[in-house]
Amino acid sequence: MLKRRITVLGATGSIGASTAAVVEELLASGAAEIEVEALTGGRNVRALASITRRLRPKFVAVSEESLAGELRTLLEGVSVEIGAGPAALVEAASRPADWVMSAITGAAALEPTRAAIDRGASVALANKECLVCAGALLLEAARASGAKLLPVDSEHNAIFQVLGHPDRVEKMTLTASGGPFRKWSRERMASATPDEACLHPNWSMGRKISVDSATLMNKGLELIEASLLFSISEERVDVVIHPQSIIHSMVSYCDGSVLAQLGAPDMRVPISYALAWPDRAPVSAQRLDLAALGELTFESPDLDRFPALRLAREALRAGGAAPAILNAANETAVESFLAGRIGFLGIAGVVDEVLQSWEGSGLGAIAKSPSSFDEVRSIDAAARIAAREAVGRSR
Ligand code: NAD
Ligand code: MG
Repeated sequence: MLKRRITVLGATGSIGASTAAVVEELLASGAAEIEVEALTGGRNVRALASITRRLRPKFVAVSEESLAGELRTLLEGVSVEIGAGPAALVEAASRPADWVMSAITGAAALEPTRAAIDRGASVALANKECLVCAGALLLEAARASGAKLLPVDSEHNAIFQVLGHPDRVEKMTLTASGGPFRKWSRERMASATPDEACLHPNWSMGRKISVDSATLMNKGLELIEASLLFSISEERVDVVIHPQSIIHSMVSYCDGSVLAQLGAPDMRVPISYALAWPDRAPVSAQRLDLAALGELTFESPDLDRFPALRLAREALRAGGAAPAILNAANETAVESFLAGRIGFLGIAGVVDEVLQSWEGSGLGAIAKSPSSFDEVRSIDAAARIAAREAVGRSR
């Protein structure tokens, strides 16, 4: 019988909801005994109160101190400890859960994720931004503490599922749906709205990752994520557009065999795999009917229309601080796009400008890898300032 004591960081988001659905299904079917130690949420206290009532954690943390009172009122009569502010998010991750879902958006996940890694927990990584900005340091922390990192991003989870012979891998192929603008011209993309960018064809996700899927920066971040998680060099990771999102990624071996993981596009599958690992758990995700699907198609990504993917590959190749700069600039650019301050094409434009200015600025050689989490924080902060300036100039 599967037994877990779990914590969900980012419980009010899309991954948080899918995690809650898996937990509730396994509890209802009697397939698992799961205790919930802690939950965290950003600013949506109503959603946080509602998931707290459903999952009954011992501790719940909201990201902003000013929202603690409101959360307390909403949770009147529920026996749960309440915390607020950044330290409370870290406290949630530090509490003794043996499995921690990291599903806060962006580099904001770094401190709590690191706290879970440092105490040797199994960490289910949905968040990719903290790997992109501090990957080497997080992997080193996991080695030191014995923490197990379980990839939840569907592509990396697919690779994790089929990685039977890691020493015999020739290459890995990440599949990408192509996003909502797969067939759009640059001219049309120039006036795309945030709502159009967030209308993903196959997955329903938070707004930041949805925009990243529309620019293909998401696949770029995933290239960096794959290179770190599976210790594979940049030139051995391919990207192929696969609009149906049925094949979630592939590993090619030295004998010409290619192993892929297939399934309906439903995050409950990778989440349940990470939760039950090394076993599997019975989950009611939609079953595949290949004959009904009829065909699976593939095409090469167009780097002229989607320059963010090229920028991410260049950042991975450059190494050092480049991925952290790319990530912070992208987070700022996406926020600016969602707030209507720049157009859709401005996102990759801002990231490109920040990376280029960094190379020429002497702010710190781009090639130098951050040697501490403090250094990551200062690179991240400087790149956000540079990105805000680039946003200002582009208006
Ligand atoms: P979301 O926006 O739906 O949810 C994000 C969660 O993080 C919410 O609980 C929110 O309140 C919290 N949060 C946001 N900013 C915060 C901050 N500054 N401090 C504390 N909490 C904060 O996002 P999502 O789609 O669930 O994605 C979460 C992470 O998982 C992202 O890193 C994303 O790239 C990754 N991911 C998501 C999917 C998916 O299908 N949704 C797939 C693969 C990877
Ligand atoms: Mg993914």
